[in-house]
Amino acid sequence: MESPRYDFIESLHPKFIEQLHAFFSHEKRYFFKQLEDWVFVKKATNFAEFTNISKKNREILAQNFFLPSLSLVSQVNSGKDQTVKFLLRTQSGHTIEAVLIDDGLANKGYILCLSSQKGCSLACRFCATGTMGMLGNLSSGEIVSQYLMLAALSNRPIKRIVFMGMGEPFLNRKNVFLALDILCGKDQSFRGFGISSRRIAISTSGILRGIEELAGHSLNIRLSLSLHSAIDESRAELMPDLKNISLLQIAKAMQYYSRQKNQAVFVEYIMLKDLNDSDAHLKALIEFLKPLFVKVNFIAYNKVQGKPYKPSSQQRIAFFIEQLQAQGIVATQRYKKGDDIGAACGQLVSKKIVTVSP
Ligand code: SAH
Ligand code: SF4
Repeated sequence: MESPRYDFIESLHPKFIEQLHAFFSHEKRYFFKQLEDWVFVKKATNFAEFTNISKKNREILAQNFFLPSLSLVSQVNSGKDQTVKFLLRTQSGHTIEAVLIDDGLANKGYILCLSSQKGCSLACRFCATGTMGMLGNLSSGEIVSQYLMLAALSNRPIKRIVFMGMGEPFLNRKNVFLALDILCGKDQSFRGFGISSRRIAISTSGILRGIEELAGHSLNIRLSLSLHSAIDESRAELMPDLKNISLLQIAKAMQYYSRQKNQAVFVEYIMLKDLNDSDAHLKALIEFLKPLFVKVNFIAYNKVQGKPYKPSSQQRIAFFIEQLQAQGIVATQRYKKGDDIGAACGQLVSKKIVTVSP
């Protein structure tokens, strides 16, 4: 038997719904509403669960559509905290990673860190994903499936979603924007999972087009900018593929975003010993940030196998935070989670390429 051709999650999006209608032309609107409910409300990951749909229609679905868009390869639990890392196989047979991180709040939820690409084309020096190279974009169904599958598997609610896994989301804009429609809902005609856009953050290394497009988007997604240095030359050393995008351009894009959305932009700054933690870096950082509406997160560098970099001392990180705060800039340190299982920021890499089973 031939394997099913169409991605079911994507097919629910208004842009692709015709391909679903084509198989069920005699069905009424209510039928399609029931299908949506199985995924978006009941978070079903298998057509066999669609018990109010006739056996015949479930067969048609299973013959022509796949659900979910990824399959689970393995799961690793941290021995240190509540972080869980999932290895998932894509339609092309590559593997990607998604991570559930304890949100640290009393009512115990998870933050889902999801991937937008298979690997990354931008090879930032400090990042494990960057060493993989670019193996392809994830489809919108594959992006959303990370949420659907982990929501169905986990015993705690997913309270927030961050696009901080593998890949540069703004180099896969078409699929990332479609995925946002499915996660948050597009308009009254399509409510998708109905997640509040305020609970979703996209992290970018500074792709200007993406920042502009997100600023013009109807959803109020949170924007996170991976800065890591406010000195052009040193940023270019750390992120060589981004050397043509200047800090001035980045500052303008961030300003545009916060004005359009009336919200602060989050700034991520990895503290790398002797590379971006000098007094000159601190001075440049303060000058860069002062005119902007931002909240800064300092991250102690997470060790990546085979890379020579070291995190700055805790004392130095605390000093940077103090100095920023003294200038009225909101600054905190991101608590490190999942580093024992290679699930912390920048540690996501999958070496294993799994071939698709026939
Ligand atoms: N490509 C996007 C999103 C994925 S990376 C981006 O770069 O923003 C998610 C975050 O992890 C980024 O802020 C990135 O700079 C950071 N990161 C990468 N490698 C890291 C490491 N080894 N230690 C700590 N943070 C890292
Ligand atoms: Fe890609 Fe982000 Fe890693 Fe840079 S930090 S290589 S942009 S995933």
